[in-house]
Amino acid sequence: MKSHARVVVIGGGVVGVSTLYHLAQKGWSDVVLVERAELTAGSTWHAAGLLPLFNMSYTVGQLHKYSIDLYKRLPSETGQDVSFHVTGNLRLATSRDRLDEYQKYCGTANTIGVPFEIIGPKRVKELWPLLELGGTADTALIIGGLYHPHDGHIAPADLTMALRKGARAKGAEIYEQTEVTAVSRTLSGEWKLTTTKGEITAEHVVCATGNYARQTGRMFGLGIPAIPVEHQYIVYEESPELKAYRQGGGRELAVMREPDQSYYLREERMGWILGPYEAGAPARFADGVPPWFGKSLFDGDLERLIPHIEGAQRRVPALANCGIKDIVNGPISYTPDGSALIGPAWGLLNVWLNEGHSFGITAAGGAGWQLAEWIVEGEPGIDLLAVDPRRFGPYTGKRYVVTKNEETYRNVFTVHYPDEERPDARPAKTSPVYEKLKRMGAVFGQRYGWERANWFAPAGIAARDDWSFRRTNWFEHVGNECRRLRERVGVIDLTPFTKHVAQGPGAEAWLDSLVANKVPTKDGRMALSHALTQRGGIRSEFTITKLGDEFFYLVSAGAAERYDTDFLAKRLPADGTVQLSNITTSRGCFALAGPRSREVLAKLTDTLLGNEAFPWLTGQAAEVGFAPDVYLLRVNFVGALGWELHFPIEYANHLFEAIFTAGEEFGIGMAGMRAMESLRMEKSYRMWGSDLTRENTPLEASLERFVRMKKGDFAGKAALERQLAAGVPNRFVTLEVHGVSDTDPLGNEPLFDGKGRMIGRATSGCYGHVLEKSLAIGYVKPEFAEVGTRIAIEILGERKDASVLVDSPYDPENKELRA
Ligand SMILES: Cc1cc2nc3c(=O)[nH]c(=O)nc-3n(C[C@H](O)[C@H](O)[C@H](O)COP(=O)(O)OP(=O)(O)OC[C@H]3O[C@@H](n4cnc5c(N)ncnc54)[C@H](O)[C@@H]3O)c2cc1C
Repeated sequence: MKSHARVVVIGGGVVGVSTLYHLAQKGWSDVVLVERAELTAGSTWHAAGLLPLFNMSYTVGQLHKYSIDLYKRLPSETGQDVSFHVTGNLRLATSRDRLDEYQKYCGTANTIGVPFEIIGPKRVKELWPLLELGGTADTALIIGGLYHPHDGHIAPADLTMALRKGARAKGAEIYEQTEVTAVSRTLSGEWKLTTTKGEITAEHVVCATGNYARQTGRMFGLGIPAIPVEHQYIVYEESPELKAYRQGGGRELAVMREPDQSYYLREERMGWILGPYEAGAPARFADGVPPWFGKSLFDGDLERLIPHIEGAQRRVPALANCGIKDIVNGPISYTPDGSALIGPAWGLLNVWLNEGHSFGITAAGGAGWQLAEWIVEGEPGIDLLAVDPRRFGPYTGKRYVVTKNEETYRNVFTVHYPDEERPDARPAKTSPVYEKLKRMGAVFGQRYGWERANWFAPAGIAARDDWSFRRTNWFEHVGNECRRLRERVGVIDLTPFTKHVAQGPGAEAWLDSLVANKVPTKDGRMALSHALTQRGGIRSEFTITKLGDEFFYLVSAGAAERYDTDFLAKRLPADGTVQLSNITTSRGCFALAGPRSREVLAKLTDTLLGNEAFPWLTGQAAEVGFAPDVYLLRVNFVGALGWELHFPIEYANHLFEAIFTAGEEFGIGMAGMRAMESLRMEKSYRMWGSDLTRENTPLEASLERFVRMKKGDFAGKAALERQLAAGVPNRFVTLEVHGVSDTDPLGNEPLFDGKGRMIGRATSGCYGHVLEKSLAIGYVKPEFAEVGTRIAIEILGERKDASVLVDSPYDPENKELRA
């Protein structure tokens, strides 16, 4: 074995080998893979090999699309067949919500260029003659389906071997029977891996260890939130009906999924493979895979399978006529949200994760491609936030991950509503006023482990969501919350915000080198600032307030805590001139907003709140009620007169009571996340993570006013200069969608010109309750960005007229904010 390599990939499943392949393809030939047993010895060898293009995520959809294209060209490139059967994939629908889900998906598919067909029952039957359309007491009627003609299934081991061949052809080396047993950091900053075959030092390490992710993480001091769950499929004997159909000239049947019965069915050697996603499948190996497990499988659990077998037999009666040959029950890696972990490990330099894959055969191509790009080029080419390992935080301890992964597994086939909030492992992280909010009718959602009130059910209204792709039970009440904030005064609990302090003599210059805006130099000043990637895309967004000499307070999205801490901490100057603290959980935050907010706050503080003493976009530390050292920031995400109160967290209950007592005479009330979403869109405020991602620069996001090209150098500046010289390819717009009755845009809708050509993508959408308009925001080609331009938007399969509005259609001159 070599003693040194530029990259060592740990794990020889399909994902590790694909990462190796892509590193080598990118020209890094000094790359090595070590595998404790032999290639495919983990989950890869027993996977069913399905390659579904269907995925609701814009990011994951792109990874899967890349994989399918790669797998089709691998045989000619490597000379190794991969047994790719392009059978197509057919998903059945038996309810309107299911069809809505498919139509929602189709918007995403269109924006990433995945071909699909929405089909009716007749075409379903043509594609799958052995299936019953149903409509009886025990079998629901098929009302349509979603068909992908270009995907199918593959032989996972052959695929891995083709990737191996391609990697080796470019100089990569693979060592089997070589287990990594310990890791340490050398003085020069490299990683020394101890293996059963000796030591190897590497600049970069990639962990692609599948079911072993927990114990791999322990070697690096990481709690990786990937724990496998039992997953089964049944292999059937030959089916006489299938045989007759094929011998009669029938083509190989598409892989069929009946999500409402939670199973897939595909052909296998004139018989079938039936794979259910069952309730009750347990998480395994939470503390690590025992050494004896190796290539073992678990015993099949027929009892868990029976409801799905019966459902499948009702749909495909031929299934009842053939015997069961085998039950394969293997560990399948899962994460709490079901998406993989692809990207840098937090807190460690040059350690990369490609873990947590539950559709790893499908994802391996794309996951290897993007991770290799990140390692070699310093940036991934697409927005990977949805799979970034840092989207999870320390709250993902063992019990949490076990509970959530079991829940995610059994919900693989349930309808993925946009307003869905799953109940397990909750509440986990709560604001101190959680119980108060609950008593006020809060209907909570969960983000980054935090309970956040999405809306408040008034007395007499059930405090629960009826999830939907359309306007639903919470619509009217969210509207009332919006109007309260625009007309009177309201409070939003924003305690989950990520909060950092950067202080010290080097803090200002350091921050200035990280972000595109000018970091405030005067005490009390505030700047909305974007940290950019080297390609000029938006990596993070911080509101930076200078609250004292050499003292900067940074606020960013609640879901970005680990992501932003990792970003900042990895870039701290080595000379000790900057101290960085993450104070997220030691400060709470209430936004107090609306035309009467000044009068409410004035009752609680001696700090002068008039425009002269406390202008818009400034901050001061103040005493509020009994709470000392409250950071009062005159800013908010709803576009109203108001202040955010960032207070020592132990004063949360006191301040909450005090604000409500002071606000009573002004009709104060709570508002939730959904009201904030509607109000921010009326102001064209872009949301980090959906509207602002690494795929677009701040120039494309029309945020020039927050970019100071004339200041000193900052990350991404050169890329912005190049973009300015070449012409900014997209512009950010706010759109009014016409003719909507109950299907507001939700984000990820394609945008078209008058000739039906795609000209952009909506990144968010909702109903603007105060403007009384259905709104979308997103990116279009510059020639379509003029106010008044008419374009079309596809919502749940229907093209609607839309027109470009002025940026910030509500109060465009910010009169209310400055009032
Ligand atoms: C029953 C079943 C059916 C499935 N069907 C499908 C399907 O149809 N389509 C699909 O897309 N996905 C499917 N999957 C999921 C798929 O199998 C996995 O997502 C995929 O195989 C994961 O690949 P991987 O490379 O990440 O992990 P693995 O294949 O598990 O590989 C990890 C490797 O790391 C090695 N390793 C671990 N620790 C060390 C160490 N310290 N040193 C050296 N080596 C180490 C292991 O030996 C192992 O070989 C299925 C899974 C199951 C269980």
